[in-house]
Amino acid sequence: MPLVDMKDMLHHAYRNRYAVGAFDLVSLDFLEAILRSCEGTDAPVILSLAESHFEHFDFDLMMAATERAARRAEIPVAIHLDHGTSFESAVRAINRGCNGVMVDASHLSFADNVALTRRVTEMAHTCGITVEGELGYVAGVEGEDAEKHPGEVVYTSVQEARSYVEQTGVDCLAVSIGTVHGRMRGRPELDFDRLAQIDASLGIPLVIHGGTGLSEEQYRRLIENGVTKINYYTALSDAAAGAIRAVAARDSGAGYTGLLADARNAIQVEVERMSHLFGSAGQAQGVLASARPWRPVAHLILYDADGLDEAGVEAMMAQGREVLSAIPGVRRVAAGRAVKADVPYHWCWVIEFASEKVIDSYRDHPDHVAFADGLFRPIARERLSIDYELRERCEKRKASPGEGRS
Ligand SMILES: [Zn+2]
Repeated sequence: MPLVDMKDMLHHAYRNRYAVGAFDLVSLDFLEAILRSCEGTDAPVILSLAESHFEHFDFDLMMAATERAARRAEIPVAIHLDHGTSFESAVRAINRGCNGVMVDASHLSFADNVALTRRVTEMAHTCGITVEGELGYVAGVEGEDAEKHPGEVVYTSVQEARSYVEQTGVDCLAVSIGTVHGRMRGRPELDFDRLAQIDASLGIPLVIHGGTGLSEEQYRRLIENGVTKINYYTALSDAAAGAIRAVAARDSGAGYTGLLADARNAIQVEVERMSHLFGSAGQAQGVLASARPWRPVAHLILYDADGLDEAGVEAMMAQGREVLSAIPGVRRVAAGRAVKADVPYHWCWVIEFASEKVIDSYRDHPDHVAFADGLFRPIARERLSIDYELRERCEKRKASPGEGRS
């Protein structure tokens, strides 16, 4: 059960004045290190996958591993799309297993930012998904994550923030108050007055991007003023790279696994340090007690086909797999044929929804209605359809040799 509703997780943090770390992962080393660290400190966590990093890994494969890892974790976890660039990327992320999405239209005009964000929010909320918007612009300064965010910092205005949240319906808002993506240069000046006014005006969880390199005091004041999610990547990347360079410097003959041997531990130590600074350490049980579990639903249909031969049924089902799997909130569409002949129904659909909410939005979705009314129901007059909430047993992670070295 440790996948939980992201909005519930953020509200626990908002009420109890701490921030959840949203750590971007770019490899399995990051995934394992982040979860291991948060299990060690009993911290809730957001596993974050940034669209700008998709060139470094196969998103579908990484999502499968991320979801599996989240489900067997002993701490509450949410899975988030970071800096999604379009409506389509938000749908894809939801259908692959994210239960939070960020749509980043902060480089567009206010009106265009509102229009795109609102469209994503309307779709996502029909699936129970939490949405983060961004207003103002967090530019990059230095380091590998900085180059993805060109241009100058634009501060978030209090008035615009209020109007933006009202018009888009986002659940949490990334604000620009002086942090930058990538590495900080010098000591950053953060506009806490502005942040306090935004918090007072909105009363929703706020998000900081560019969390690397702030002082303990700065993190404390961010959290005091409504920040409940801090995106953190650059320092993890630097810690891993530093560990790799250290091995390379002392052992010129090191191979692939040798070079990477200390990277996971370096990431784990940095995540642990941040969980203490963010105040999320020790909050896992509180979140588990108050957040709704995030569970998929299986939509099962058993049917008999009349008036269609086997090839006709196969063709209809192939089309269904194509059309239905593109509907927001649909995780999987499988169509099957009974193994034995002497059964009451000879064909089935097994459709998996991201959450219970999708039962209604799927039923009413125009693509589903068109397929069901046009192709499916006319040939499947005898049918049975039931939705089931799914639970499964996930084997706990086994400690590996060398774990806990630090
Ligand atoms: Zn960011």
